[in-house]
Order: sequence, then C-alpha cells, then structure tokens
Amino acid sequence: MDQYAIFGHPIKHSKSPFIHTLFAKQTMQQMHYQAIKVPINDFKERLQLFFSEDGKGCNVTVPFKEEAFKFAQQLTERAQLAGAVNTLKLTDDGVIIGDNTDGAGLVLDLKNNHIDISNHRILLLGSGGAARGVCGSILDEKPAQLVIANRTYSKAQALATNFSKIGNIKACEFQYLSGEFYLIINATSASLSGELLPINKQLIRPETAIYDMMYSQEPTVFNNWAKEHGARLIIDGLGMLVGQAAESFSIWRGIKPGTKQVLTELRYNLST
Ligand code: NDP
Repeated sequence: MDQYAIFGHPIKHSKSPFIHTLFAKQTMQQMHYQAIKVPINDFKERLQLFFSEDGKGCNVTVPFKEEAFKFAQQLTERAQLAGAVNTLKLTDDGVIIGDNTDGAGLVLDLKNNHIDISNHRILLLGSGGAARGVCGSILDEKPAQLVIANRTYSKAQALATNFSKIGNIKACEFQYLSGEFYLIINATSASLSGELLPINKQLIRPETAIYDMMYSQEPTVFNNWAKEHGARLIIDGLGMLVGQAAESFSIWRGIKPGTKQVLTELRYNLST
C-alpha cells in the first residue's frame, strides 16, 4: 500500500494522521498515513529510507522545513519563494518534488470564512516560517497592500524585499503600525506562550477580521484581545491546518478532498 507520513520533532500531537486518514476514506484512496518522530540529526537518512521503501509522499513540520527544502530534488515556485517545504512527493519518474501548501491552506480557509482580501489592506504579524509560507498566496489574491511587522524588524524587511516582485508589500515596525486593515493575521508564535503583541488597539476597526494561525480549545490570547477591542470576526488556524493538508493530499493523489466535515470533527475533538 502507498505510504505517507508526517516527519517532525516533536510529533505526538500532530493531527495530520487523523486528517489524512479521513481524506483517504472520503475519496476512497488506498493509502496509509503515519506520524514519524525523527531525531534532530537524522532527518535526511530517515527520509531517504522512507522513499526507498513504499513512501510516496510526506509532510514535514517543525523543525525540518528548511532541511526538506534542501532535500527536495525539484522545488515548486511557491516553495522556492517561501524557502521552506512542508510537502514532498515522489513522482513516477523517481524525482522528489518539494512544495509549500501553507499559503494555499490559509487562503482556502479565508474563502471558507467568506473573507475576500482582494483590494483590501492586510496586516501580517510575524516573519518566521509560517509568515514566509503564506506571503506569496496572500499577494496572489491581489490585496491593495500587504504590511508585514515583526519583533525582529530586519526579518520583516527581508520578507518584503523577497516578495516585492509579486505584489504591493511593505515592512513596518510594530509601534508604527497605523491605518485601516481589513484583515490582521497573527503568524507569530506569541500566542503559544500566552503573550500579547505590542500593537495599538486602534488597529482593530469594526470592519477588521482577525486570523490567528495558532489554534486551541479556547480562543487564543490574541483573538480574545481583538474581540475585546471590537473585531468583527475572529478565526483560529485549525481551518488552515486542514486546508494545507487538503492541498498536500491533492498533490499526492490528484484528487481534492472536502474539508468541512474533517474540520468539524477536528473542532469537536479539540473541545473534548
Ligand atoms: P517561527 O519560530 O518560524 O517564527 C516565530 C515568529 O513569531 C517570529 O516572527 C518571531 O519573531 C515571532 N515571535 C515569537 N515570540 C514572540 C513574542 N513573544 N512577541 C512577538 N513576536 C514573537 O514559527 P512559525 O512561523 O513556524 O509558526 C508561527 C505560528 O504559526 C505558531 O503559532 C504555529 O503554531 C502557527 N502555525 C500554524 C499553522 C497552521 O496550519 N495553522 C501552520 C504553521 C504555523 P522574531 O523573528 O523576532 O523571533
């Protein structure tokens, strides 16, 4: 049977096996998907072994996305721009292709939530792997402007330079952020430690939607803060997780699974 997996460290809490098993059932694909914890210095060897056996494709998560980028024999344009790979596929010709589906996952979830970002001003907070992975897909939707802010400002500047050929993007320091944003995306890991970002509450307008890439049983601190200050809508990153998985699945199997039922089941599991 065709084998698929997610490689990471740690990996115990990964929801990918659950998601892909449901996708396979829904689309009647004969495949098996498992989570594999890889010792930090063993990524390349473990991956080579996987693809030399029945491995047809895999996801890659923290901290191996940059190593997966180097491991791939060919890269899609969006993976090249992101500088990170979360999806690898072995083609029938024996070539391992690296892709990044995070941006597609985010945009799919925005659409599912009826958020159309074209011609609107968007704020992206953070400049780590997740932010890099979504910039290209956001700009492909043709927002009026994408502003990127990050604690380490030089990283936001580097991102803006990297993606300036795709669309209107600029870097800004947290304390100088101003004006109206239709959507504010939190791609920092500050919510993981329960920290709030040093941004002005006046950035939240009645028309502002908020998207925190983190997800948890309770609303994240960022989403709670935004709601308190009048955001019209708060969304967490569970839908993005399912969306990026659906994109990976369709790269591997050539069939796009539905995401709504899987998201409902995951949300239910989170709450129990
Ligand atoms: P990285 O470690 O690559 O980047 C972390 C980012 O957060 C950096 O921009 C960092 O700033 C910033 N940051 C961390 N702590 C703070 C803080 N206390 N105050 C301000 N900024 C802070 O992580 P990722 O980009 O991979 O992940 C970011 C978040 O996105 C995580 O919560 C992760 O769970 C989530 N994620 C969700 C996905 C989904 O499918 N829903 C997919 C991928 C990620 P600096 O550069 O200054 O260090």
